[in-house]
Amino acid sequence: MSALLDDPDTIASLTGGALEQLPYPVVILDRDLRLRLANAEARERLKPPSAEEDPCPPFASVLARSGRIPADVRLRILSCCGAEVRGRNAPGKHDAVFAMSPGHTIALYARPLGHDRWMVVLEDRRRGADSGMAAEENQCDTLTGIGNRRYFEEQLAGALREDDPDRQPAILVFDLDRFRAINDLLGRSGGDALLRAVVGRLRRATRDADQLARLEGDQFAVLQLNGHAADNLAARLVDLLSRPYLVRGEVVTVGISLGVARAPGDGDSAAALLHHADLALREAKEAGGQTWRRFGQSMADRARSRLDLESDLRKALVLGQLTLAYQPKVNLRTQTVTGFEALARWSHPKRGLVPPGLFIPVAEDIGLIAPIGDWALRAACEDATAWPEPLSVAVNVSARQLDDGRHFLAQVVASLRESGLPARRLELEITESALTRRPDEARSLLRELHALGVRISMDDFGTGYSSLSQLRTFPFDSIKIDRSFVSALDGDNDAAALVRAIATLGAGLGMAVIAEGVETSGQARMVAADGCTEIQGYLISKPIPAAEIRALLARDLSVALAS
Ligand code: C2E
Ligand code: MG
Ligand code: MG
Repeated sequence: MSALLDDPDTIASLTGGALEQLPYPVVILDRDLRLRLANAEARERLKPPSAEEDPCPPFASVLARSGRIPADVRLRILSCCGAEVRGRNAPGKHDAVFAMSPGHTIALYARPLGHDRWMVVLEDRRRGADSGMAAEENQCDTLTGIGNRRYFEEQLAGALREDDPDRQPAILVFDLDRFRAINDLLGRSGGDALLRAVVGRLRRATRDADQLARLEGDQFAVLQLNGHAADNLAARLVDLLSRPYLVRGEVVTVGISLGVARAPGDGDSAAALLHHADLALREAKEAGGQTWRRFGQSMADRARSRLDLESDLRKALVLGQLTLAYQPKVNLRTQTVTGFEALARWSHPKRGLVPPGLFIPVAEDIGLIAPIGDWALRAACEDATAWPEPLSVAVNVSARQLDDGRHFLAQVVASLRESGLPARRLELEITESALTRRPDEARSLLRELHALGVRISMDDFGTGYSSLSQLRTFPFDSIKIDRSFVSALDGDNDAAALVRAIATLGAGLGMAVIAEGVETSGQARMVAADGCTEIQGYLISKPIPAAEIRALLARDLSVALAS
């Protein structure tokens, strides 16, 4: 084939009958990239307009009309032909290969024929004629036309088998930031359109030799056989793919987070490289997204210690390592304790006392928050029955617990029934973030709980995004002002104004307003002057074990408040 192509005279003589017989599409173009001649195979595949319709149609419109070749591949074919026509192609650089889908490429050869004519041969290459089709179906991502995970793993394993020190493969794995939210917004078919747009851009940003795959959902991977410049490609992809997309007439802004792993240093098996690229991707995500990270050993160490923590936490409940500590809330007017907040503690034989700020988010991530939350609810109700009336117990509720509202409601009812604690003595502390996720579901659940007689408290108020007006539509009995505002009171006028505004609002809505984290009597006086009705904080007491509650209740609190 190539011997023939290298000789323009032979080719010219082919244009009579032999060209017509060739089993692959051959076209002859002029300097303006108009189609002058197409052989039978090209007419069959590309379906150009007849000579009567248009004797020399632009090759661009012929390719577009065919409907078989994706836009980005068409562009590359045209630019390749253009370079050839303008004599820009270096000797020996005439040929190009375009990946259509796994196992399916189009090879292009362009040769000058003289007299301002060029011959272009387009050869469809499908791996293995019969078995190839089946393999392609198994390895192709039907949504985007690139490879799937299986394809990628095979390609990667193949690349790692090549024992060429100059060609050390690298993989880049990325996903879209906030894809779930965008998918919800655009609807499923809009989400699919976005994924296809991402792949279109990915094809343009990568070289033909790079292997592309969609691993799952919105996660993609690129395999570079020669990974020396993988970091450059990573930076370029984050830049290009994070630019706004136009999806169904809407401008969609979505960042990508990307992780890079290179053989052999970052792993010498497909599984290890994929795992490490994934760890790097997660670090990029944790750094806020729209960025990339190269795998480093410290990431593997962190991942391992996190896995250890997870496995210890799974055992913590059954081993009885979780306990509740109680911190009093005090009414500023009567100077008496109104109730206690239950705060989870994990005492681990080796780790010591693990603070809830560290293990509650982990429990949420690994699906343990429901059993831990159920346990806290039961234990708190049980403990509170030993306290004098009308002292209440407040239990923290994580946003994740509200996802399964039916289960949560049933747990509250069961905890009250089994302990015998009256509903009015149970309070549930909910943070703002729990309400912003699915506000309608959260609102109706909280209303049901409220109807049982349980009191509802807004925790850490001021740290989220909920507006004061939104607050009115939820059945809150009290607001807890986040301790960051209280600690800012000394010397920060804005903080004082904010505390006053929240207290005024709370009073107007008939809610109790609790200042959290009050450490000094000065702060206590200030929040009292600003209109808060209750305080909680180290000034009165740190969280204490249930066994110490009686002693605390016997204390005269006016001393602490007055000092
Ligand atoms: P939170 O509900 O806002 O609890 C108040 C936190 O502030 C507690 O931290 C408490 O010890 C601390 N604190 C109280 N007074 C002061 C003070 O005067 N100064 C300072 N610096 N800190 C004070 P803790 O116990 O570490 O709990 C942290 C968070 O963990 C809690 O914040 C709550 O959101 C979460 N949490 C605790 N127990 C549970 C639980 O059983 N379930 C759920 N879902 N979350 C829990
Ligand atoms: Mg709380
Ligand atoms: Mg709080």
